[in-house]
Amino acid sequence: MVSERVVRIVFLGPPGAGKGTQARFVVERYGACQVSTGEILRKAAREHTPLGKKAAGYLDRGTLVPDDVMLKLVAERLHGEDCGLGFILDGFPRTIAQAEGLATILRDMGSTLDCVFFFHVPRSVIIERLAGRRTCKRCGTLYHRIFNPPTRETVCDRCGGELDQREDDREETVAARLDVYETQTAPLIDYYHRQGLLREIDGVGSVEEIKARVFQALQESGR
Ligand code: AMP
Repeated sequence: MVSERVVRIVFLGPPGAGKGTQARFVVERYGACQVSTGEILRKAAREHTPLGKKAAGYLDRGTLVPDDVMLKLVAERLHGEDCGLGFILDGFPRTIAQAEGLATILRDMGSTLDCVFFFHVPRSVIIERLAGRRTCKRCGTLYHRIFNPPTRETVCDRCGGELDQREDDREETVAARLDVYETQTAPLIDYYHRQGLLREIDGVGSVEEIKARVFQALQESGR
């Protein structure tokens, strides 16, 4: 772990682009915290917390949880002690309003973003990835039935937990999520490009190949 280097990065890209998988590698190396808003919301929904009850319908439909709810959640998370060594925002921001809110949160903390990694993956590849994606119910480790298979089909290599397909990775919801991405989130590519923060990562290839590109891009950004 190279903990003397603080990273403050947004991982941007469509669902299934590999953001969560790659964020885990960066966190392991840099000791930053991974703020995966989708994971936080799914956990809250499973535990029926007030946040979970608010989010459940949106999660089921594959639509976005309202910006004010998301901004409050992220502000609290970024103030957490474990974010002292920086953060990888995985799945946030997803709208221009969230990006503007994030800039305000960071400014109030005397901080800024280092850069935004945009994972570029064509729609056909995404659909294939989401259909085969499996997640450990216990530790959240991500697998793919073909591209990154566990040793035993339904068991996590890392912790022995049971592997599951996310409800919203089923075919019916995937199309809705991709449409939401195109209309509400894709405008952030241009938004961050204009601020000079965007680094494009080719998100097609094996997990290891993409990991190498991410670390190369981090190095090039002086991390
Ligand atoms: P993800 O795991 O990032 O694909 O997110 C799963 C679901 O959580 C999304 O389809 C949304 O319903 C919700 N979600 C996650 N992040 C956000 C966000 N930044 N803004 C609004 N909704 C979100």
